[in-house]
Amino acid sequence: MTDHAVVIGSGFGGLACAIRLQAAGIATTLVERRDQPGGRAYVYRDAGFTFDAGPTVITAPECIDELFSLAGRARQDAIELLPVDPFYRLLWDDGFRFDYGGNPEVTREQIRAIAPDDVAGYDRFLRYTDRVFEAGYARLAHVPFLHFTDMIRVAPELVRLEAYRTVYGVVRKHFREPHLRQAFSFHSLLVGGNPFAASSIYTLIHCLERRFGVFYPRGGTGALVTALVDLFRTLGGTVRLGFEVARIEVDGGRVHGVISATGERVAGSIVVSNADVVHSYGQLLGHHPHGRNQAGRLGRRRHSMSLFVAYFGLGRKYPGVAHHTVLFGPRYRELLGDIFDRGVLADDFSLYLHAPTVTDPSLAPSGCDAFYVLSPVPHLGRAPLDWTAIGPRYADRILDYLERKLLPGLRHHLVTLRTFTPRDFATELNAHWGSAFSLEPILTQSAYFRVHNRDPQIGGLYFVGAGTHPGAGLPGVINSAKATASVILAARAR
Ligand SMILES: Cc1cc2nc3c(=O)[nH]c(=O)nc-3n(C[C@H](O)[C@H](O)[C@H](O)COP(=O)(O)OP(=O)(O)OC[C@H]3O[C@@H](n4cnc5c(N)ncnc54)[C@H](O)[C@@H]3O)c2cc1C
Repeated sequence: MTDHAVVIGSGFGGLACAIRLQAAGIATTLVERRDQPGGRAYVYRDAGFTFDAGPTVITAPECIDELFSLAGRARQDAIELLPVDPFYRLLWDDGFRFDYGGNPEVTREQIRAIAPDDVAGYDRFLRYTDRVFEAGYARLAHVPFLHFTDMIRVAPELVRLEAYRTVYGVVRKHFREPHLRQAFSFHSLLVGGNPFAASSIYTLIHCLERRFGVFYPRGGTGALVTALVDLFRTLGGTVRLGFEVARIEVDGGRVHGVISATGERVAGSIVVSNADVVHSYGQLLGHHPHGRNQAGRLGRRRHSMSLFVAYFGLGRKYPGVAHHTVLFGPRYRELLGDIFDRGVLADDFSLYLHAPTVTDPSLAPSGCDAFYVLSPVPHLGRAPLDWTAIGPRYADRILDYLERKLLPGLRHHLVTLRTFTPRDFATELNAHWGSAFSLEPILTQSAYFRVHNRDPQIGGLYFVGAGTHPGAGLPGVINSAKATASVILAARAR
């Protein structure tokens, strides 16, 4: 029988997997419930402004390039990646500022100016993140962990790298100055991990950014999604938007396709779910005892925080603002405890501000700037808040803060504003508890302990995306697609 694959969900993981399968000669249909592809990388267009809904920090371009080369194409011909420098501007409530970038000499100078004793610690930290990168990313990010023995095999290496420590635990060893401890530990939040709980393996993000750089696609992240969809279609793949899968068909222990909410059937001997893992097992396979069991088990595990995001366009330019700014609030560990453990929506916040028009002015009308600001907040399982009621007030507080700290006259120049709340993560993306990054990246939920690329019981059923190894973030989900496709192609070759 000729194989036909159905990929449920067009996030970066789903798209990358669909491209890999189609390039390998498996006729593939990509089905997506929303009206646009991209998943968390959706695009809003309001009053002449273009807003990327999610990912904005593009790292490890080589994993994107690889998708194009599968089709004998060069990524550079399809989409331009513009370098961003500094990678992040970090601003604290007390006025402290640190420009975090890829040039170690520039970083050393900044460290020397405030904490000369920490320069040696920085150099040790660089060497540590190089080692973690080689093991955790270069060798293992694209490798499936299907058997416990796969985990045993890498265990000695994980011990050597002190993976049992937290990100903050390792950073604390190398830096004494409190601002620097935050500057070098916040990165795990980019993939949904609390620096005080995520495995120190996630410090590899530092190395990833330093080695490959930080980029922004010309035209926005949405333009990168479009380029990947075009690539998939050029290879002969089929995309169905507005197709909400209601059920994965299983018979005789194997998948046979998917059924949409309106009753339409797409047949497939291979089904890859890029949708949230709890949703996939609990809803799409809720008719099967294995699906119900898995959903119960996964639903009780630790899920990453949610986010409150406000997208806004301003009718003037703000020269001097960086492309990526992190605004640290007055509390760090305690605030993260409120978000990840206590389920408290705190009065203070730490924010990430995205200003894409710094790099690509075409994303706003002439003389205007586009922004989004996000605040990590507890997911709905920890804090079942009524975001419809509190969202507008929360947005007001954030915009007032930004107006005071960074964007004077913001209210006066506000042209357009829209928000995305934990509730939207749950309803628009089917994210369990409205989590923004799926399962929390802690050691006991990583590698073998994450959802496997291949389901252990149902033949032909596979998973890709943030809930699988190696986890959230674009490099993570694109590598997960490589792992999933390799398992599918190996099964086919047998
Ligand atoms: C605000 C925000 C900012 C971020 N910033 C960055 C960043 O700067 N850099 C970075 O690398 N990462 C970033 N991330 C993380 C990154 O965006 C995600 O980890 C990644 O995009 C998730 O990809 P995925 O493949 O898991 O699929 P997702 O993007 O989660 O897509 C899953 C898709 O499945 C669809 N779906 C769900 N259920 C069904 C169904 N029943 N039928 C059909 N379709 C269905 C959904 O509609 C969705 O399109 C950010 C995330 C967020 C939310």
